[in-house]
Amino acid sequence: MSRGRVSLLLLAVTLAALLIACAPTEKEAYKRQFFSLGTLIEISLWDVDDERAAKAVRRVEEIVNDAHQRWHAWEPSEITALNTAIAEGQSLTLSPATIAALRRARELAAASGQLFNPAIGRLIALWGFHSDEPPHGPPPTQAAIDALLAQAPDMDALWIEGLHAGSNNPAVQLDLGAFAKGYTVDLAIAALRELGIENAIVNAGGDLRAIGSHGKRPWSIGIRQPADHSEGGILASIETHGDEAVFTSGDYERFFYFEGRRYHHILDPRDGFPARQVISVTAIGADGATADAAVTGLFVAGPDHWQEVAQRMGITQVMMIDTDMRIYMTAEMARRVHFEIAPPAGVFIAGESPRETR
Ligand code: ADP
Ligand code: MG
Repeated sequence: MSRGRVSLLLLAVTLAALLIACAPTEKEAYKRQFFSLGTLIEISLWDVDDERAAKAVRRVEEIVNDAHQRWHAWEPSEITALNTAIAEGQSLTLSPATIAALRRARELAAASGQLFNPAIGRLIALWGFHSDEPPHGPPPTQAAIDALLAQAPDMDALWIEGLHAGSNNPAVQLDLGAFAKGYTVDLAIAALRELGIENAIVNAGGDLRAIGSHGKRPWSIGIRQPADHSEGGILASIETHGDEAVFTSGDYERFFYFEGRRYHHILDPRDGFPARQVISVTAIGADGATADAAVTGLFVAGPDHWQEVAQRMGITQVMMIDTDMRIYMTAEMARRVHFEIAPPAGVFIAGESPRETR
């Protein structure tokens, strides 16, 4: 090879190396995490300069911490103050933010037929779930559960007038645990939009609302395999479009074993026991508050009644997994879910005949 050719070849190799070095590697989203609302909150922003991103994260942090303090179910909060007032037959003046949240929770409870019933705080406390420590049992006695059920606390018994709230039923005790994450995620997304941010995810421990996209591709959301102790991998993924909330309620989030039986934290307000037939429900909705309340209501409704509840709550995309690992979905959900592992038992699409594992 002549010297001229060697240097040409060298030049070509150098150019190729330079080109590789300059090839646009895929940009990552700007991500920040913090703890609040009893879970890990993660904010992902796409195509926002660092200064504005940092400001946006601070704003979301303020909103979420404010929600945590205002609506905590057992640490002193506006909700615990209201609960004390109700138990004493009094009413209470609340902040506009809390009144708005309660109105929304009440509407959603009515739509769910009170299966999502945030007025059962006393029952939740009776089961030992009002604690920062892991729950441990023993389960309450049947007599204690019956005494509470006889008082029939529900959200219809909560009255709201202006900034005052109260109830004629002293057994009404609010616990927004099944709703506050969704409602707060909505507040956070609204704040991001006010800051001109159009591409973002606010994720509260796997429950999230996504707006816009991750540049040229949609945001991709993983749905965890239901399993105790968070060791589950990804069961399925969903790509979000426009503005969507993806929420999951699982029996593996909080539970205890007592004398060989497992008791989890999603209670059926009708019999006072942990709902029995389901291990997880995922719903995609237009907003976080609806999706959060819905997954709890659908969980309680179970495999035989979830379709009615979904319809009443305006939710068209649902995936439910029962205790035998059978998967139930609406047709609309089935079109969007990409399973990362083969579903272990059958897949049933609403309105279609049962399908074998795909
Ligand atoms: P996750 O913790 O998996 O997000 P949820 O959104 O369903 O689950 O919230 C469960 C919490 O909601 C419980 O810890 C309890 O505080 C409260 N809760 C339990 N059962 C109900 C119910 N039927 N309606 C309303 N809130 C409930
Ligand atoms: Mg919920």
